[in-house]
Amino acid sequence: EEPGDHALDSGKPNSSSDLPLESLKTVLTEDSAAGKVKRKRAQTPLEKYYLKYLCVTDLSTQSWCEQQMVYGRELPQLQAPETVVLLNTGKSIHLARELEVHDVVRVHTTSREDSWAIKILNLLSVIPVLQAGGCVRELPVFGVIEDVFLTGIIDELCYSATGELELRELKTRGQPFMPSGAQKKRDYFQVCLYKYIFDAMVQGKLKPDVITSHIQLRPEQPLGSQIREHAQKVGFMVTCFADLLELMYLNLTLSDIPGIDCLKIEYSHQESNTLLGTEVVRFEEETVLEKAQYYLAYWKGQREVQGVEIEEAWKCQSCSYSEICDWRKKRAEGPEQRSGPKKSK
Ligand code: SF4
Repeated sequence: EEPGDHALDSGKPNSSSDLPLESLKTVLTEDSAAGKVKRKRAQTPLEKYYLKYLCVTDLSTQSWCEQQMVYGRELPQLQAPETVVLLNTGKSIHLARELEVHDVVRVHTTSREDSWAIKILNLLSVIPVLQAGGCVRELPVFGVIEDVFLTGIIDELCYSATGELELRELKTRGQPFMPSGAQKKRDYFQVCLYKYIFDAMVQGKLKPDVITSHIQLRPEQPLGSQIREHAQKVGFMVTCFADLLELMYLNLTLSDIPGIDCLKIEYSHQESNTLLGTEVVRFEEETVLEKAQYYLAYWKGQREVQGVEIEEAWKCQSCSYSEICDWRKKRAEGPEQRSGPKKSK
């Protein structure tokens, strides 16, 4: 993330920067000077797109169609205008809900550590609210799965009438009816990943050095003056990035905040703002981790990109990339043209 002006409570983050991970792929190249053939390691997708971490939404989007997710990254200009409008309206609704519970302050950042300090300050500011039994919105979460750093933003965490900690994810829809089973499956995966990451955080599994080593941040980096001033206003005396990481770790592990007990997704119609329905999601850790491992294998260069299987070819009908999709073309040519293992998820 580049230094600059950042909202202290920003919206959903975008993936960013390079995470050098070991790739299993190699390619043979001609060494023209020596006339020899030598082995050169191919870039993993994480390296190719200069990513140091992924967002939870990258993985849930990938679970809809991995090939579509890749096209979305490489050719965003081909995305249907109605999809872009829907996404932007969804973002505005999230921001409006966030502003209902707190103000957004603009803070100038001078380093990558400052940008991450903002996320951590946002997290630190909600811990006492949760401890006091209150409700928080737009809660940043970070964690590691399969050696890949993941970030996300939980829409809402509240205690239910029976005292259970409940995650609520808001999904706004262009259509005035509930989504298909396939869309729900994608959303279930997203909230299950949030729970896994959040629970690991409050259980003390996110050590300060995990963050700095995965994202290649400098713990000793002094924080910018605006960050330090804001931290002081909310009660934290910090000088360098390591101070904030330590505070985050201590506050999370000593806070007695429980793990998430219940996962709910609320679907509402964007235009009329009416609630279409609520889904309660069952969390099965083994299944979630198995799926995450499968999707992360693509990012780590352990397998080729995959499109949808024939039984889900209906997804291609509403896809912005159906005209140019290589996977679709190969599928039309016959199953023997396709490479890579059969998708099992
Ligand atoms: Fe995926 Fe089908 Fe779109 Fe290709 S056309 S990206 S396989 S949904």
